[in-house]
Amino acid sequence: MTPAPAPDATATPDVIAAPDATAVTGSTAPAAAPRLRLATAWLAGCSGCHMSFLDLDELLFVLADRVELVYSPVASDIKTYPEAVDICLVEGAVANTANLELALQLRARTAFVISFGDCAVTANVPGLRNLLNRDGRGGAAAVLQRSYVELADSSGRHPHAPGLVPELLDQVWPLHAVIPVDLYLPGCPPSAERIAATLLPLLDGQRPIQAGDAMLRFG
Ligand code: SF4
Repeated sequence: MTPAPAPDATATPDVIAAPDATAVTGSTAPAAAPRLRLATAWLAGCSGCHMSFLDLDELLFVLADRVELVYSPVASDIKTYPEAVDICLVEGAVANTANLELALQLRARTAFVISFGDCAVTANVPGLRNLLNRDGRGGAAAVLQRSYVELADSSGRHPHAPGLVPELLDQVWPLHAVIPVDLYLPGCPPSAERIAATLLPLLDGQRPIQAGDAMLRFG
């Protein structure tokens, strides 16, 4: 797979601009600000980034007033990624065909995609298996051979369930290698404070200030 061009890190979509409070509504009552449609997605990750999102604690109540959570593995049972999403936090690397399909789908349906956590930003832990893909040779077969045959206690054999289990990609990719992303949010996991410092400005139509150790340190 050919990596996608580097994303434009300065792009902030119109859709997250502050709502137009002067819009004519035909009523003298102030118009309610539209709630942004927020999603979170889980690719090849351990769910630790989502656990950190839940650590937002009381800020979750603030978010509940300001966003509509339209897709999330930790907060809904919606199976299909919806259309017209404003912001999506994407945890995890791209390691199998299901990850790749969801990444492409969410990019097509989301205005602002955040590469959420070190696995999404660098491939991190899931990317360790790329070490078995030496010189571009080996690929997924080498991973399966090592895991299910060489390290098996007894009767090792390759798992094979076409149509049931997504096929491994030969290489694990960071998110930006397969789709353009709009913002990187590093950390393993990113702290709740870092998540808050990213989301709150976005809700106000501003780009978060990403500077200093507290916002940018990996790990
Ligand atoms: S970045 Fe860390 S916490 Fe987040 S999914 Fe990867 S390993 Fe888990």
